[in-house]
Amino acid sequence: SLSDRLTSTFKNLRGRGRLSEADIDATVREIRRALLDADVAVPVVRQFTAAVRERALGAEVSGALNPAQQVVKIVNAELVEILGGQTRSLQLAKTPPTVIMLAGLQGAGKTTLAGKLALALKEQGHTPLLVAADLQRPNAVTQLSVVAERAGVPVFAPHPGNTSDADAETIIGDPVGVSRDGVAEARAKQHDVVIVDTAGRLGVDQVLMQQAADIRAAITPDEVLFVIDAMIGQDAVTTANAFAEGVDFTGVVLSKLDGDARGGAALSVAKVTGKPIMFASTGEKLTEFEVFHPDRMASRILDMGDVLTLIEQAEKAFDADEAERMAAKVAGGEDFTLSDFLVQMQQMKKLGSMKKMLGMMPGMAQMRDQLENFDEREVDRVQALIQSMTPAERENPKIINGSRRARIARGAGQTTAAVNGLLDRFGQAQKMMRQMASGGAPAGPGGMPA
Ligand code: GDP
Ligand code: MG
Repeated sequence: SLSDRLTSTFKNLRGRGRLSEADIDATVREIRRALLDADVAVPVVRQFTAAVRERALGAEVSGALNPAQQVVKIVNAELVEILGGQTRSLQLAKTPPTVIMLAGLQGAGKTTLAGKLALALKEQGHTPLLVAADLQRPNAVTQLSVVAERAGVPVFAPHPGNTSDADAETIIGDPVGVSRDGVAEARAKQHDVVIVDTAGRLGVDQVLMQQAADIRAAITPDEVLFVIDAMIGQDAVTTANAFAEGVDFTGVVLSKLDGDARGGAALSVAKVTGKPIMFASTGEKLTEFEVFHPDRMASRILDMGDVLTLIEQAEKAFDADEAERMAAKVAGGEDFTLSDFLVQMQQMKKLGSMKKMLGMMPGMAQMRDQLENFDEREVDRVQALIQSMTPAERENPKIINGSRRARIARGAGQTTAAVNGLLDRFGQAQKMMRQMASGGAPAGPGGMPA
């Protein structure tokens, strides 16, 4: 996976003042491979990595992240921006009905989506009507009727009711007329949304494109949703461009995201058409449908969701201000107190929750080992003990005598041995902090005593 490759590439890198060109190039090379593995179209990969490289050059290195993580963060931000820069919800018509037309290749998932959209809209209190304008494929009308029945919404079809297989084969209807009549029916019956399901072909085809364009011209839809199979891979750009030119859609729906596809098609389509991806279809059931989440898609494409979570958490957990304050304090010859000790332990606790992931990260293996034996409940115990001390004792634990130790233990519901253990460990940490003050190593979660 990308995270493994980054780990080996960046084993030897450490945080520096600025990202170097070599760091960026090495990282971008791995990112390029990850994008190609995710089936992002080649020209899109090229443009994208060039943009990332430019953005990464001269970027400040953050205290919490190493150069590779820094570049990954930039890549992720750029991905989310392209995928979500124009996220929006359905455009509803000022005067109902809102007309939604579906377009896309055969098998893309249009008819299934018609049912999903209808059900979702119905649940929001709308009164959708489905229109069967796919008169190309045997059974297409029947398929839409089945979907409509499952969604509990009516369907407008050229042969309502008894469409036998034999009839279906011979339907030579007029999809433009049916679409127009369907919209008129919606207006007459006061449906506030009408969803027009259209025919697709196996490949991009001039006849099909003309038919879709004619339907569009006849019903002037508020939305034309281009449905594309997430598994389509490198063909995404050609297909999306053909539909953008032939029909001109207003939004994209990515289907079959429940499969193995890493979803590179999403990036390809978003990048070449600049049209928003609005929904994701994630299964054959009508409820398997959701509003598109750019951030989830970005980490799916990069195939490093865990790493991205880790980067986010590392930034949160590593409270740079706190570390700086501590370093300044120690460097200034001020003493490291039990209160500081508690703050450090609490930072460790935040990091503790990502113990498992730390092993994957460049430069983090050592911290992982430290955390391996770290008991998160220990932080709560230490906190209870420190809280039952007086402020003066927290600042200067040397004044804590035998009877106070017993009193503190009782106050925290623990044993005197626990108090002794804490004070011993604190003494060691304090010594270490003093050594660091003379040696100049930075304080922070990484500087925690094991
Ligand atoms: P159309 O030709 O564009 O109308 O596509 P259909 O809606 O008929 O879908 C083609 C096939 O893909 C059908 O077998 C659907 O059940 C299936 N399908 C559609 N959307 C999804 C999806 O999101 N996930 C999965 N797993 N299958 C889907
Ligand atoms: Mg269909």
